[in-house]
Amino acid sequence: MKVGYSYLETQFRQGLARARARKPGAPKEGWTEEILADVRRLIAAGDFTLGAPVGQFEHAFAALVGTAYAVGVNSGTDALFLTLKALGIGPGDEVITAVNTFIATVGAIQATGARTRFVDCDEEFTIAVAKIERAITPRTRAIIPVHYTGSPVDMEAVLAIAKRRKLHVIEDACQSIHAAYKGRPVGSWGIAGAFSLHPLKNLNIWGDGGMIVTDSVKLRDRLLLLRNHGMQNRDEYSIFGYNSRLDSLQAVVGLHLMKDVEAITEARIENARRYDRALARVAPHVWLPPRRPEKRHNFHLYMFHASKRDALLGRLHEAGIDAKVHYPIPLHLQRCCRELGYARGDFPVAEAQAKTMLTLPVHQHLTAGQRACVLRTIREFYGR
Ligand SMILES: *Cc1c(COP(=O)(O)O)cnc(C)c1O
Repeated sequence: MKVGYSYLETQFRQGLARARARKPGAPKEGWTEEILADVRRLIAAGDFTLGAPVGQFEHAFAALVGTAYAVGVNSGTDALFLTLKALGIGPGDEVITAVNTFIATVGAIQATGARTRFVDCDEEFTIAVAKIERAITPRTRAIIPVHYTGSPVDMEAVLAIAKRRKLHVIEDACQSIHAAYKGRPVGSWGIAGAFSLHPLKNLNIWGDGGMIVTDSVKLRDRLLLLRNHGMQNRDEYSIFGYNSRLDSLQAVVGLHLMKDVEAITEARIENARRYDRALARVAPHVWLPPRRPEKRHNFHLYMFHASKRDALLGRLHEAGIDAKVHYPIPLHLQRCCRELGYARGDFPVAEAQAKTMLTLPVHQHLTAGQRACVLRTIREFYGR
């Protein structure tokens, strides 16, 4: 049985029929056709650049996260980069983030000319909040907690440190749409939250896109300039900016997918709950991160630990199961990070986890049969 990691093919074949069927009254078919009808309307109108759908999507996105504003940009990476630029962060400054994140978090910091300071991670694959203070220097300007895998960081603790040390908090919420900490959506805690709409993320448009959310009108206005060449209007340019607009076409797609975010999250949480229960019985060969009731994890990634990880990964691949490792080489040991001056041994938790972590397909289209196949393969591997 083939158990894919990406769910894009499934999504287009059957729409979100299964996820939506869980919600009473939700339409069950015609999902792609509905979007294409709106795309045709957009083409007829030629409203491609910062067209009406962008504003509508921003409005809906801000409402979902519970912030006053949202600004659409062309990727999650730019959502981070432009926010750092808008806050005036650049050469000579330092920005703190987790050592186990996708490289884009670090790329965005480095692109501003600032220097990245890593902090080790905790058992939940997110920044070890208790180790943040040690990384702060007189040059530190901001902290970027990453809600990695969709697991919310303890934002109250991060904000307390930031307040005491007068630092900005920018949330890397690229993987964590609809995740929440103490009932409040991630992305709404810091001065800004950055989201990715990449095809592999939970809200997956038809190409690249990103969104920045904030309650600050000043930051919002700065971001509107930065994403569009610093143009106040057609004839007046107040600052040097970038071309980082969210395409109207992608906003059309995003507007449709917004309606499914809740069902997607619920389906993933349900898959994770079933995996959790079954994998607990394969202890001590596998072990799970702690699950905390105050956190709504959106299970963008379902990550756990496995002994003999590489052998298990090979066995899963042979069985047609698209398990992955996010990621086998911690960032401080990557070639591009050499200039940051870290060495093996600097982040022992992340280094140890990189050897045992494993990611299973957990997407909303997974069938009971596919889930059973994954769990049977793992049990058989350990002779259980
Ligand atoms: C995907 C991702 C990004 C970058 O988003 P893009 O839209 O691909 O540019 C940044 N940070 C994290 C944690 C991500 O997972």
